[in-house]
Amino acid sequence: MSLLFLVIAIVFVLPANWFYNGGSAGPTLLLYLIAAFYFSFLLADYPKSRYFFTMLIIVIPAGLVFSETSLQPWIYSYPNVQAKQLDIWVSYAVTVGMSIFIMKMYGKRYRLQREKSERLAQQLRVLAETDSLTKLYNRSAFAQLYNNINDKSDYSLAILDLDNFKLLNDTYGHQCGDEVLVTFAKRLRTINEDEEFLVARYGGEEFLILLKQPLQKAFSILDAFRQNLNLYDPQAKKVTFSAGLVPLTQNETLLSAIHRADIKLYKAKSQGRNCGVSTLFRT
Ligand code: GH3
Ligand code: MG
Ligand code: MG
Repeated sequence: MSLLFLVIAIVFVLPANWFYNGGSAGPTLLLYLIAAFYFSFLLADYPKSRYFFTMLIIVIPAGLVFSETSLQPWIYSYPNVQAKQLDIWVSYAVTVGMSIFIMKMYGKRYRLQREKSERLAQQLRVLAETDSLTKLYNRSAFAQLYNNINDKSDYSLAILDLDNFKLLNDTYGHQCGDEVLVTFAKRLRTINEDEEFLVARYGGEEFLILLKQPLQKAFSILDAFRQNLNLYDPQAKKVTFSAGLVPLTQNETLLSAIHRADIKLYKAKSQGRNCGVSTLFRT
């Protein structure tokens, strides 16, 4: 509708205005300017139509200006200077008013688009950092947060691995395995012991936990979690996990910390599963 109005204005109304209001001496060029503003706003998302209207808005007034001498007999002249001034002032006021209005619309559109792109960027960030099944941090997000810690010596790192998970999958199906992983992840989130605490899905049925706790305290937190887990498979058999826990050194890389925790985890598995092994308690 606005587009039709624009075509009528550019092709018929403004040229008519040109003849009835003194040609170049009148306000028509000013009105073409405001029409140019308006269509560039209206067609911001339609580049092809925008080019077409740009052509119209250049060609039509240019044609009128260049053929003004030969069109002179049809151009109405103002009866006096006051009439001309009044016409130009009114057109000027309309042009300024319309320009302010259009600029405000531009500002509003810009603000809305910026908010939308910020929202999308935030959604993308969350997607990139999150494990799609458990909604915990994924491995790379965990690594990023780990690397941001300057002094790691206040922290302990644990790797948790669900016991006999393949058997659970084979017995009850992958879907059931997924549900157990999701519930286990939810429980992990509840550990948060006021202090800094970071949990991520390392991959498969393995999880990483970073606790801002000395080894002994971290061990008792995880052991209490292990004892109170109360997670069962469809035949009411307890789902358990084993863990390897290590205290970190000041500048330790995540790879090195995981490697050391993995050795402890292996020990926990070989000691019969459903247990945790740390340098402090079991070696
Ligand atoms: P262990 O006690 O020694 O850890 O034995 P396990 O069976 O838990 O370990 P194993 O490495 O043999 O098997 C891990 C299984 O985890 C195999 C794989 O199919 C399953 N798994 C990995 N990712 C997913 C997942 O996203 N969903 C489900 N349902 N299963 C998964
Ligand atoms: Mg495993
Ligand atoms: Mg396992």
